[in-house]
Amino acid sequence: MADREVDFLLVGGGMASAHCAAELRRRGAEGSVLLAGREPEPPYERPPISKEYLRGDAGREDAHVNGGRSWYEENGVELLTGKNVMGLDLEARTAKIQGGEEVGFGKALLGTGAMVNILRVEGAENEGIHYLRAFGNADAIRADAEAAEHVVLIGGSYIGCEVAASLTARGRKCTIVAMEDVALSRTFGEDAGRWFQGQLEEHGVTFHGGETLSAFEGDGRVRAVVTESGLAIECDAVVVGAGVRPDAMLAQRAGIEVGDGGIVCDSKLETSAPGVYAAGDCCSYESVVHGRRIHVEHWDVAMQQGIHAAANMLGAGADYEVVPYFFSDLADWASLEYVGPAYEWDREVWRGDRDSGEFSVWYLQGDRVAGCLSVGRSEELAEARQMIAERTPFD
Ligand SMILES: Cc1cc2nc3c(=O)[nH]c(=O)nc-3n(C[C@H](O)[C@H](O)[C@H](O)COP(=O)(O)OP(=O)(O)OC[C@H]3O[C@@H](n4cnc5c(N)ncnc54)[C@H](O)[C@@H]3O)c2cc1C
Repeated sequence: MADREVDFLLVGGGMASAHCAAELRRRGAEGSVLLAGREPEPPYERPPISKEYLRGDAGREDAHVNGGRSWYEENGVELLTGKNVMGLDLEARTAKIQGGEEVGFGKALLGTGAMVNILRVEGAENEGIHYLRAFGNADAIRADAEAAEHVVLIGGSYIGCEVAASLTARGRKCTIVAMEDVALSRTFGEDAGRWFQGQLEEHGVTFHGGETLSAFEGDGRVRAVVTESGLAIECDAVVVGAGVRPDAMLAQRAGIEVGDGGIVCDSKLETSAPGVYAAGDCCSYESVVHGRRIHVEHWDVAMQQGIHAAANMLGAGADYEVVPYFFSDLADWASLEYVGPAYEWDREVWRGDRDSGEFSVWYLQGDRVAGCLSVGRSEELAEARQMIAERTPFD
């Protein structure tokens, strides 16, 4: 017998859950809503923590979703922060909350997000080696970077490049060590990647591509990053951006189907447990747009999926058909936006002028648009989105 019952249980205090709560109320749902997250903070947006917040240009409150705690009070959404959901019993339809309370639920959303990949190489125990997922990590990086002369970033994707840009803008010397030959090339290809890398280098960031980390050296505190090719780069702090993996532990323990890309959902974002949905970084869904199962770890997707799951929890029964969108900023040197994602492409069409920093790249698979990158040409993204969704031939 549960201690109490709620109509809607939202697990995880991130973008997906926060937007699901807001959409439930926006659609007039009158049932009780409980949002439980393990972080001490009310749900917040993570993009600023590698950008404005890391640079000291924005505060925590600026990132709060729905305007912070008062919204939840005013809208009758119970917000439990600093509380883990320890287990789900799908037969009894109850959740065990940290502290021992057992809550019965009608419908549930799993918005448990993702966990950073930890590098387990020699010397990984040295102080001064950071990962970045939450405000607390950004505070620790900022404090270390203040005292550091040289910071090494491991990883040539968003986190490595964004943090290098932010810390360089704060006057630190930064070096990126990456497995890929060219920055950001995994998503955008080498041509566009070279443009972004050029922006980083012009502002003083050093980029070592094609390098595999072999060890950290230190005396209790990290002093150097060593690669398999024999590079040894002295430093006083390291930030690792080696990707994330979906946090599907709760789902898995409850017996919900989980795959490599996260919690397995159908095209309506419903998991293998009826009435239990997943959204955001933890969710792998059957995309009708892409004709395959996909998993996307981006801000807009977490928001849109949280909103969509709310509608389906209320009976809309609709496929999730939003074409994924994301953005990234390298300090105030370069901003990109992208729709897709293009997993494969055989041709790139460039429009605009890369020298003036206003261009788009259309990633084509046969005659179909698989993705589109915009730097300063946002107006093209709506067209690209439509062409991806409708599979319109590109001419
Ligand atoms: C530094 C950084 C910069 C980023 N920049 C960009 C960007 O520029 N553009 C972009 O598009 N995307 C960006 N992203 C990605 C974007 O922030 C994520 O896609 C988004 O936060 C995903 O939201 P979510 O709600 O799925 O998960 P999260 O935001 O990870 O929230 C999930 C929450 O659930 C909690 N949780 C997990 N399990 C439990 C449990 N059992 N009980 C209770 N709580 C639980 C977690 O602790 C976490 O607080 C960035 C991410 C990071 C880390």
